[in-house]
Amino acid sequence: MTRKLTEKKIVIATHNAGKLREIGDLMRPRGIEVVSAGALGLPEPAETETSFEGNARIKAHAAAAASGLPALSDDSGLSVDALDGAPGVYTADWAETPSGRDFAMAMEKVWQKLQAGGHAAPHTAAFNCVLCLAWPDGEDVVFVGRAEGALVWPPRGTRGFGFDPMFLPEGEAETFGEMDPARKHGMSHRADAFAQLTAACFG
Ligand code: IMP
Repeated sequence: MTRKLTEKKIVIATHNAGKLREIGDLMRPRGIEVVSAGALGLPEPAETETSFEGNARIKAHAAAAASGLPALSDDSGLSVDALDGAPGVYTADWAETPSGRDFAMAMEKVWQKLQAGGHAAPHTAAFNCVLCLAWPDGEDVVFVGRAEGALVWPPRGTRGFGFDPMFLPEGEAETFGEMDPARKHGMSHRADAFAQLTAACFG
């Protein structure tokens, strides 16, 4: 049986403000106090694995070991079918610039690659999210979530974060960047993984 989370305080093993906000929104109704790795001054470990699961494990175990608390990490990214799943685990890297992350530039890069490859619409894509909950004693559990959709151009909306403005979830009229955050929480890859975590480890 999957280990239950009995502790009332956990670390969110991320330095990403968008993820922290969304995971905080998902955790709050559970009555669990959350503190971020950034707020604890924990170092950001290098994401050296080639899978979402591998990198999620690295982040959760590093934060659990350093804090002595259970730690929840999120490794996520956008996989575009016509680009053979890219940017995938390298989604954040596509936004890197010498002066920080630039997602307008990263979205443009994705669109340019689709144009250069002569790919016709619909540009089907999926957001993936792997959540890893690790305890300081080294045990962990992993959950995989996914949201299917298609990419639109130009990007639409100023809500959400990262690639949200160019991602139109399947069957929806608004991109993740346009829709109310509560609505995104009802259908996102993160919400999918979180629902599995909740069912297995809470309550
Ligand atoms: P990592 O998990 O730290 O490697 O970074 C994942 C990257 O994927 C983020 O920096 C975002 O660009 C992107 N991403 C993950 N989840 C979402 C989401 O819900 N909306 C938009 N972009 C996301």
